[in-house]
Amino acid sequence: MRKFTIIGGGQAGLMLGLGLLKAGHQVRIVQNRTADDIEQGRVLSSQCMFSNSVGHERELGIDFWADSCPPVQGINFMVPNPDGSGTKLIDWTGRLDRDAYSVDQRVKIPRWMAEFQRLGGQIVIKEASVADIDEYARQDDLVIVASGKGEVGRMFVRDDQKSQFDKPMRALALTYVNGMVPREPHSAVQFNLIPEVGEYFVFPALTTTGPCEIMVFEGAVGGPMDCWHDVKSPEAHLEKSLDILKTFLPWEYERSANCTLTDNNGILAGRFPPTIRHPVATLPSGRKVLGLGDTVCLNDPITGQGSNNAAKGAVIYLKRILEHGDQPYDESWMQGTFDSFWNYAQWVVAWTNMLLLPPPPFVLDIMGHAQALPQLAHRMANGFDDPRDFFPWFADPSAAADYLDELKKAA
Ligand SMILES: Cc1cc2nc3c(=O)[nH]c(=O)nc-3n(C[C@H](O)[C@H](O)[C@H](O)COP(=O)(O)OP(=O)(O)OC[C@H]3O[C@@H](n4cnc5c(N)ncnc54)[C@H](O)[C@@H]3O)c2cc1C
Repeated sequence: MRKFTIIGGGQAGLMLGLGLLKAGHQVRIVQNRTADDIEQGRVLSSQCMFSNSVGHERELGIDFWADSCPPVQGINFMVPNPDGSGTKLIDWTGRLDRDAYSVDQRVKIPRWMAEFQRLGGQIVIKEASVADIDEYARQDDLVIVASGKGEVGRMFVRDDQKSQFDKPMRALALTYVNGMVPREPHSAVQFNLIPEVGEYFVFPALTTTGPCEIMVFEGAVGGPMDCWHDVKSPEAHLEKSLDILKTFLPWEYERSANCTLTDNNGILAGRFPPTIRHPVATLPSGRKVLGLGDTVCLNDPITGQGSNNAAKGAVIYLKRILEHGDQPYDESWMQGTFDSFWNYAQWVVAWTNMLLLPPPPFVLDIMGHAQALPQLAHRMANGFDDPRDFFPWFADPSAAADYLDELKKAA
């Protein structure tokens, strides 16, 4: 049995911690909020997780919501007509081979904290400082920092080569609602791209009060959807959400006009720069710690990949730790562990970052063709579950042209 401390009990930290406990190790998680704080606090994510990630939760025996969370069954991509007619220029749907799910972290994290304690894990409620982390590193075999966007993660130095942006690319907002007209004939992430304005997506989820829909607004910075600064109350937040839909996406407004907030904490507005950090940090004593999840690989939510990455990263780290047996977790092992994750995550980051920039003509061409080529729509939808499948054809004009030719010939 080896001793581990994990700083931060979110999607990444708790998943890794639960996996280590189940493998017979001693695990402490340091969390700066109690389960009640989290359950009664504000939403922080839309956390849609695709089937490979949900499968990892299932393998660990912690997918407690398979029967209660409404499934997300497809991706519906839409672009409004630029002529202002309120019609759609592009509209295609790809069915997901296996359902995706979004369980509000206010539901999931407290339940996982309880499970972690039931299995013998120790939870320390505390805002861990660098000095605390140094002390944990002295006591334990390995300390992992999975503190998300928390300040303490700044001890990991930004990786300038892997970080494409140095400022926020979108003004983000979330609105959790009830009363939306269900999508027919099956549920989906309705992903609307409004050129030069931003993106809006919406999908079913499970929140603290039961099933709901989550509206996610991704406003281009400085554009008309970057409009949350003067919104001061939950009522005003809902009103602003509906105004945006009424102005840019009438078909979404139609479904949403009678929506109400799930609760006064079912709202969020904020922004952050997508940032990749070097995965190993040196503590004042010279000891090393390893970063996991958003701490070292923070993406814009435009592609809904952060929780998925956190889950996949946790599983990769768990495997590496268990394979390592009794050997010391030194710096080269830490770097190698992150590199195993980066072999996957680099494609997620590249694809996500592409969508944050104005789409080049060949990408618009792909998006447009998916309407007539169901095979292409199906592949793009299922790429959310494993974005490696977007490469090279979504990133390279000649690979895209070859792929489209191939599809057209087969059609
Ligand atoms: C608007 C928005 C929408 C999103 N939508 C999606 C989506 O649809 N799909 C998807 O996959 N991802 C989505 N994400 C991203 C996803 O929520 C994150 O990537 C994911 O939660 C990261 O998990 P994590 O465990 O790394 O960090 P977190 O979930 O942030 O967990 C970190 C934990 O550490 C704690 N902590 C921080 N500092 C300290 C400290 N010093 N001491 C102790 N504890 C500390 C925090 O309180 C928190 O509990 C979205 C994000 C945003 C902002």
